[in-house]
Amino acid sequence: GFDLSDFEVGAVIGEGAFGQVFVASHKLRKSEKVALKFINKNEDDRYLDIDGHSTPVLAEVAMMLKLMNAPQCPNIIGLHDWVEYENNFILSLEYAESCQTLDQYINDTVDVGEKRARQLMCQLIQAVKFCTERGVFHGDIHTENILVTQPRLQLKLIDFGCAWPITSEPFNSDDYRGAIICTPPEIFMGPIFHADPVNVWTIGIVLYEILHADLPFDDEDSIMFQSAEIRPRLSTECQDMISQCFIRNPVNRLKLHEVEEHQWINPKTPNPV
Ligand code: ADP
Ligand code: MG
Ligand code: MG
Repeated sequence: GFDLSDFEVGAVIGEGAFGQVFVASHKLRKSEKVALKFINKNEDDRYLDIDGHSTPVLAEVAMMLKLMNAPQCPNIIGLHDWVEYENNFILSLEYAESCQTLDQYINDTVDVGEKRARQLMCQLIQAVKFCTERGVFHGDIHTENILVTQPRLQLKLIDFGCAWPITSEPFNSDDYRGAIICTPPEIFMGPIFHADPVNVWTIGIVLYEILHADLPFDDEDSIMFQSAEIRPRLSTECQDMISQCFIRNPVNRLKLHEVEEHQWINPKTPNPV
């Protein structure tokens, strides 16, 4: 825990579903900036038991804690501390200085292009791989939950509010809380789903949005029955990677390691024969 009165709370830097995010600086160590995320307890009441804690912890905190033991991933936002305050949970997060959300960056950039898209995707893949290794399913990967720093384009995955622990059991589709337009077909269709194919679908959505400045699907109906219109002027490798992320049957979709080894991401990978 920490003491909110030790911080000078500044401007709102983000508005979320269950609260607000502020920039704040430590009163004694002024250069020490953090992002304070307020989460209303009445809105988010998912708690999980975690090792070393006698009482259940807010799921968002519990999931981030699994990612904070050394070595950490530079592409996942850090959690410094958390505290219960009045009707809120307050998370003290690593403050991503001079950053934009990826959707803002896409809107502000005339043509991000494949080179920068690849640079961003490599980092997103690292973040998702790391989560998987630590047994965390993010559950809400989309461009508003990704920060990009300027000018180096360092990517930081944020917002573990829909995250869930990965076990040997599949997930229940009713428990999925991610954004509808980024949701893969199996969630609408079946009682269960697996983390890896959902991760790959949502990575595909992010890549598509970077290169088209638009989303591939509008609603559940288009997700289920239409195919994404991919710009023909993109390289064939890039078109191939996007369409393989959008294979409807999750069993046939690219695996996360296949995304990482895909020709478009890694030209050193030998051509498939
Ligand atoms: P919610 O769960 O309500 O969606 P998020 O965690 O996604 O909240 O944060 C909402 C917004 O706040 C983000 O889109 C981003 O603009 C901003 N934000 C969140 N965390 C940080 C951070 N660590 N550094 C800078 N900005 C942040
Ligand atoms: Mg969010
Ligand atoms: Mg959230």
